[in-house]
Amino acid sequence: MKTNPNHPKFERTLVVIKPDGIQRSLIGEVIKRYEQIGLKLVGIKMLVPTADMVEKHYTLDPQWRTVTGVKTIKAYEARGLKHPISQDPKVVTGVILKTLIDYLTSGPVVAMVWEGAHAVEIVRKLTGGTEPRSSADVGTIRGDYAIDSYIMSDTDKRSVRNILHASGSVKEANDEIPHWFAKNEIFEYKLLVEQIIYGARLEGIL
Ligand code: ADP
Ligand code: MG
Repeated sequence: MKTNPNHPKFERTLVVIKPDGIQRSLIGEVIKRYEQIGLKLVGIKMLVPTADMVEKHYTLDPQWRTVTGVKTIKAYEARGLKHPISQDPKVVTGVILKTLIDYLTSGPVVAMVWEGAHAVEIVRKLTGGTEPRSSADVGTIRGDYAIDSYIMSDTDKRSVRNILHASGSVKEANDEIPHWFAKNEIFEYKLLVEQIIYGARLEGIL
């Protein structure tokens, strides 16, 4: 039982290793990075998502179409270029969503729920930004293992391949987790190391 379920150490986030991450044999590497920082895996499964699941996943947040469209148009502008399809963010994301459905339904994915202090922010930091070329720093999963760019993906009319999805905010995580996991697929358990990570005092070592 959690004595204070609102404690920040109980924050949860959704990670989905996308089909390219599975094909690149990066399941272990991704899990290792989140485990090593001290997060706890509380749910995991492999599945081939349906088109409907993918579309719902990306449109749970009504702002997603605008935010992702603006981010893409700005990435082009930063290079002195115009987006090749439209300057309207929602038109841009209309195309992105179609390619995302192809991308995420192309093979098995591994969906996971990670729990721990500031899980959403920490997981995003380890994951890196959306475009591996520009916004995923060296040292992040996307920065270290993906080489893709918007120009590459637009030229080939496909999604940016960036290995995995990670919830972008606490609200997004709270909406996404029940979309992928039933309540009984998420586990409440203790890791003994939590005493070292979160204990008010380090006790029981000597
Ligand atoms: P993130 O996954 O970093 O939260 P978004 O939510 O903005 O990024 O976009 C969802 C996914 O859509 C991205 O991870 C990427 O695979 C794909 N994507 C985003 N923007 C583009 C784009 N401009 N061109 C192609 N694919 C994109
Ligand atoms: Mg996102």
